[in-house]
Amino acid sequence: MLILGVDVHSIVIVPFGDIPKTLLDFLREELAFRFGTEVSVADPESIPEGAFDRHRSRYRSSLFLRHLEEERQDVDLKETERRIGIVHADLYNPESDVVLGEADPVDRVAVVSLASLHPESEALPEEDLRFRTRVLKEAVHELGHTYQLDHCGNPKCVMYLSHAPNDLDQKNADFCMAHQSKLKRR
Ligand SMILES: [Zn+2]
Repeated sequence: MLILGVDVHSIVIVPFGDIPKTLLDFLREELAFRFGTEVSVADPESIPEGAFDRHRSRYRSSLFLRHLEEERQDVDLKETERRIGIVHADLYNPESDVVLGEADPVDRVAVVSLASLHPESEALPEEDLRFRTRVLKEAVHELGHTYQLDHCGNPKCVMYLSHAPNDLDQKNADFCMAHQSKLKRR
């Protein structure tokens, strides 16, 4: 989209299945703030056919990425859009049995799995905040890759690599200064 001659990159959040509206609204606002761009939420979609692996009882993350990429190509003639899928399901890829999130920097699509991000006791209100914050950090991290941002050595930067949900709790939902200026140049 062109506004005053400036090419605006937009982000589309794609819920797979019944993702709570409060979570999607939270992500929309927080992502718009961090990426300085327009963020919209698409209508819910069903799980891509063939994504479920019966032997592993998990879903293939690559199928979600391909599905999002095909959708993006259909509507994104200027090739400036990013798409991020949010799924309840457990994801895996050939490198890892537990995938919190994954991005394809070339095709500018990403996916985040909520399955592993729930804290131990969800009943407490502060645990809901912790859950939402984990989802946000994972979403910012994966979208960062779609802006060609690499992993960071700063343990507080959102681009720091997290292997487990508890790792996510140690870092911020924001970019370090170096990554922030890289993002601005992209
Ligand atoms: Zn950084």
